[in-house]
Amino acid sequence: MPRPIEALIHLPHLAHNLARARACAPDAQVWAVVKANAYGHGIENVFEAFRAADGIALLDLDEAQRVRALGWRGPILLLEGCFEARDLELCSRLKLWHAVHCEQQIDWLAMHKTHEPHRVFLKMNSGMNRLGFTPQAFRAAWTRLNALPQVDEISLMTHFSDADAQRFGQDGIAHQVAAFQTATADLPGERSLSNSAATLRYNQLGHVRADWVRAGIMSYGGVPDYPEHDATHWDLKPGMSLRAKVIGVQQLQPGDTVGYGSSFTADKAMRIGTVACGYADGYPRHAGTGTPVLVDGLRSRTVGRVSMDMLAVDLSDLPQAGFGSEVTLWGQSSRGAVLGIDEVAKAAGTIGYELMCALTKRVPVTVV
Ligand code: PLP
Repeated sequence: MPRPIEALIHLPHLAHNLARARACAPDAQVWAVVKANAYGHGIENVFEAFRAADGIALLDLDEAQRVRALGWRGPILLLEGCFEARDLELCSRLKLWHAVHCEQQIDWLAMHKTHEPHRVFLKMNSGMNRLGFTPQAFRAAWTRLNALPQVDEISLMTHFSDADAQRFGQDGIAHQVAAFQTATADLPGERSLSNSAATLRYNQLGHVRADWVRAGIMSYGGVPDYPEHDATHWDLKPGMSLRAKVIGVQQLQPGDTVGYGSSFTADKAMRIGTVACGYADGYPRHAGTGTPVLVDGLRSRTVGRVSMDMLAVDLSDLPQAGFGSEVTLWGQSSRGAVLGIDEVAKAAGTIGYELMCALTKRVPVTVV
């Protein structure tokens, strides 16, 4: 018998979320972002749902080769461009579009022998201070690229640090948009600015309108601005559900403790279930007592520390639940109830992005 844990990848939900990106930004084309192995869902698992995208954005050549192997002939964008000069060879062969964010990448292009000129996305550092040319250096980089026979089309992009609106009140991106627009006002080429958070607020933030949006976390049903908004607010559906079963039941008396470190002490008689899911499956060890779960579709909570292969949940108020009960760690239960991954992440002091990406290989995946 296999260990009773599985991750379900919901293709109809992924397709729905992608359609949401399109509906939010109806005048833009949509990149489905599949970096980090499709945010932990598996590129090959999600791909059918994302065929309706206008382009696929990803991180590296390995991911690009996998997407081409799935038969995708449309645009592929390498979000961080090439990591070394020889990557350009495969870029040419796979017909990849690639970001250019630094002088070294322009040097590599200038030395590259190619028959087919490249389409590049020149990246501005408009305030994130991670990758890209500053607004002051942007024009010179554009001029240098524009003079290269290896380049036939230059598009322009930037990435927001605060599109989730927490830091700067209603519009955490205004200063970045202004920097981008001022420095690019008279440059030709398509533009790409918005990640999920800005895509969801696209119509509200009229000034981010551009040719391409890059829909990452929202495509997987994660909410970039949780807890300000939840998935219901944005009409997003979970791309992944992590489900396991109760494999043991314990009766506790007041004063009994649970798990390593005895971090939880019962203050009354309790019934707890031991669940076949632990941090070696990708469940966050930092999820302390009280992290929400669904047991047979009904809300309950974890108790005590998460161990490598198991965690404990409170069954005291769920008399029907017991050995073999289904526990949904995040996503949708088989009865249809939903527990947002962002809510679980918040309880564990992290974000939904990290939980999705952390699912480990030993968890069997079923695409539904
Ligand atoms: N664009 C770039 C350049 C990124 O690095 C990322 C992710 O970090 C995205 C788009 C997608 O962001 P999100 O998942 O918040 O939509």
